[in-house]
Amino acid sequence: MAEFEFDLFVIGAGSGGVRASRMAAASGMRVAVAEDRYMGGTCVNVGCVPKKLFVYSSGYGETFDDAKAYGWQNDGGKFDWHTLRDNNAVEITRLNGIYRNLLANAGVTVIDGRAHVEDRHTVVIGDQRFTAERILVATGSWPFVPDIPGREHVLTSNEVFSMEEFPRRVLVVGGGYIAVEFAGIFAGLGAETHLSYRRDLFLRGFDRDIRNFVRDEMGKKGVHLHFNQQVEAIEKQDDGSLLVHSAEGSPLAVDTVLYATGRVANTRGLGLEQLGVVMHRDGTISVDDNFRTNVHSIFALGDVTGEPQLTPVALAEAMALVKHWQTGDTAEIDYNNIPTAVFCQPNIGTVGLSEEEARDSGVPVTIYKSEFRPMRNTVSGRDERTLMKLVVDSRSDKVIGAHMVGPEAGEIIQGIAVAIKAGATKQTFDQTIGIHPTAAEEFVTMR
Ligand code: FAD
Ligand code: NDP
Repeated sequence: MAEFEFDLFVIGAGSGGVRASRMAAASGMRVAVAEDRYMGGTCVNVGCVPKKLFVYSSGYGETFDDAKAYGWQNDGGKFDWHTLRDNNAVEITRLNGIYRNLLANAGVTVIDGRAHVEDRHTVVIGDQRFTAERILVATGSWPFVPDIPGREHVLTSNEVFSMEEFPRRVLVVGGGYIAVEFAGIFAGLGAETHLSYRRDLFLRGFDRDIRNFVRDEMGKKGVHLHFNQQVEAIEKQDDGSLLVHSAEGSPLAVDTVLYATGRVANTRGLGLEQLGVVMHRDGTISVDDNFRTNVHSIFALGDVTGEPQLTPVALAEAMALVKHWQTGDTAEIDYNNIPTAVFCQPNIGTVGLSEEEARDSGVPVTIYKSEFRPMRNTVSGRDERTLMKLVVDSRSDKVIGAHMVGPEAGEIIQGIAVAIKAGATKQTFDQTIGIHPTAAEEFVTMR
């Protein structure tokens, strides 16, 4: 009889946990996965997927307007929040079912409930105990809200997709991915939208030109940007509205406040401290190159181990870990040149070094930039522009950064990321024939 019930027990059926479970089961391991809330994790339920659907929805207003110049007669449409919210919920339920079936078909035992680790080889869910040779913690992350008076009145990304009513006035606090994406969503859907960020310019870490450009484009779309502002308290008024106090400026009255001030590792109540599992100061779990914690039988991956908190990273880590178990080779993940998109309007797509990062690391760079009005906006007259930028190492001619703000930037940068990964030089870009008429062709015609 085997010493343990399972070869692998995974805690968390999110992006990383589902992929690791399926791959491990396919390789012949006896696998169980525990899930506390929802199949598919953050990305499917309250992250990438609903967010993208809401971004699509928020773009229709402009499409209706622009269509008139292209000969379509329409009255501009009227947005109905409940239709969007409920259709989103139906789609998510469909996806939950798909994830559950994928696991079942792979032969993975799915256990619903909150798990904690009792000892190096035992996981407890309610009154059930399971033993496993290896335990994988893939419990993701959770929204962080600073401790200010009135924090109980704010929403996070966990609640925003299922709001009872659509707000007339909204404040988004933060200056990262979620804040700029949701400022765009709310504005596109017709809310009076404010964004408050504690420093001088949002999207810290992105290329400065990109940040400036997005600031200007968001301003054109009517988002009220409050930089260098720290929210200090939120007060509920008798009429249900919220009065937001900050050190700078007069109080702001809104109906909804969305906090998007980062996410913390989801380790509470897991029992890891008692086992002596080492964590970083920010609460993320410390792992080696093979995703092993200091406790030999316990592994961790995805958001719970820290940045970059992206679904494709959690997936790549899961695949690398299972391959490592199969082959014994070190799990190889290259965290350089991870492409990413921010689905604000217009979208940001980016890969590689920003101009500032390259210069700060002493690399001599040549910069190529192109800014233009996309063809679609010529006839409609929409004043929305596109920016593209290449950062080239002047010594080797290698393209070390590509950045874009414009429609479908993520779709375009995904292809450019392959070229950069392959070590393409600016000359290679120049020698590539463009596809006309596209915005993407600008990346091969910049001189
Ligand atoms: P998760 O997907 O969070 O899965 C963890 C799972 O563990 C959860 O289902 C949770 O319920 C479960 N769990 C936790 N504790 C326990 C326990 N004790 N017992 C049982 N189960 C437990 N990334 C992108 O790449 N592109 C995007 O466009 C994008 N958009 C995003 C938008 C938003 C609003 C948010 C919040 C995130 C977004 N992300 C995006 C990030 C992405 O969702 C995460 O990086 C990804 O989900 C991390 O996967 P994971 O497996 O580490 O954790
Ligand atoms: P981010 O880390 O991207 O941004 C957090 C923001 O909150 C920063 O602007 C930060 O400011 C600010 N902040 C942090 N603490 C405080 C505080 N105490 N008071 C005021 N402001 C504060 O986190 P998000 O919540 O936006 O998103 C979490 C992660 O999810 C992202 O980092 C990303 O990895 C992932 N994600 C990915 C998406 C995509 O791929 N399109 C979309 C959405 C999320 P400062 O800059 O000063 O630190």
